Amino acid sequence: MKQNKFTLRGLIILFMIGMTLITTVLMMFLFANFDIRINEHTTLIKNPYLWLAVFMVIVIVFFMILVLLINKYIFDPIFAMKRAAEHIKSGNLNYPIQYKADNEIGDFCNEFDKMRVRLRDTILEQHEIEKRRKRLIASITHDLRTPLTSIKGYVEAIQDGIVKDQETYEKYLSTIAEKADHLNHLIDDLSVYTKQELGEFTLNLERVNSGKILASYFDHKVDEFKYSNIDLILYKPFISTFINVDPYRFNQILENLIGNAKKYAHTKIEVRTKVVNYHLQIAIQDDGDGIPQDVLASIFDPFFMVNKVKDQKEKGGSGLGLAIVKQLTERHEGKITVESNVDEGTTFVLDFPLDI
Ligand code: ADP
Repeated sequence: MKQNKFTLRGLIILFMIGMTLITTVLMMFLFANFDIRINEHTTLIKNPYLWLAVFMVIVIVFFMILVLLINKYIFDPIFAMKRAAEHIKSGNLNYPIQYKADNEIGDFCNEFDKMRVRLRDTILEQHEIEKRRKRLIASITHDLRTPLTSIKGYVEAIQDGIVKDQETYEKYLSTIAEKADHLNHLIDDLSVYTKQELGEFTLNLERVNSGKILASYFDHKVDEFKYSNIDLILYKPFISTFINVDPYRFNQILENLIGNAKKYAHTKIEVRTKVVNYHLQIAIQDDGDGIPQDVLASIFDPFFMVNKVKDQKEKGGSGLGLAIVKQLTERHEGKITVESNVDEGTTFVLDFPLDI
């Protein structure tokens, strides 16, 4: 299609100039060809030509005002939007539309600007996901390679005949078994985590009594703590209300948090429940070393460990437990928060909406 070489604004201005020229020529023609002198019987005010001239001037002024209004209320916002669109096209999504008005075009510009903000947020979110994915792949590679490298080292030592006595031989074998176990654990966690991250698992939600499900989980746990030097203190009775959860996943969340608390507590773990604003809160508090404030925000990131050497080697961690817990809790419309003070301990609070 052939492009019109005049802009809309140009056409309107041209039309305006045309109107003025035609009117002026017409007026001059009238003045030149007709006797419009005023005789003594006709007052100026009654002269029809004067009225014609006034009418023409009014028409011209009217059109001028119309052009100004069109310019202000239609062309200015269109140009503001065009400028913003050019910025968006060149990848700058931080350029806002510089037009605000309380009318339809103002609303349109406002919606356009909201679209820009939404687009910017989506792109930022995508960048964040991409960054997390890269970090995750880097961590997986590192965490899988470390035990594999040491397994390979021990096997080669045995193959090369470096190990002579039975005792060292058995020590090497048990280290290999331990590293293989760690790899297994890591792969299990990883499989759960990626399945959850990709949304490849379903929740079998049930309306359950919170008091019953907590009591049934902790009744088993109490036995496990009998032989440990950590006290499991349960503030019973647990609040008895209804929540909508997948019982298997709910236990998995508790298992991870209690497992961590047991690993890091010095003498005791306390479990409390309460209801706040139609939400059930379950607090799991330990008296361990605590987590430094500057890393508290990263604690739910996959593969994050406060002290990688200690947490991985001594506690056998993968750094995925809390990332899994957070994903699971959020899939239940719940949330998890943490408070911690170094040398005092850590409290994780689970928060689930009530189903009443
Ligand atoms: P893992 O699966 O290896 O246990 P998590 O994701 O559960 O890893 O925990 C990540 C890190 O958070 C741990 O390595 C540890 O440093 C820290 N952490 C978790 N829970 C506690 C706790 N109760 N007290 C102190 N540190 C904790």
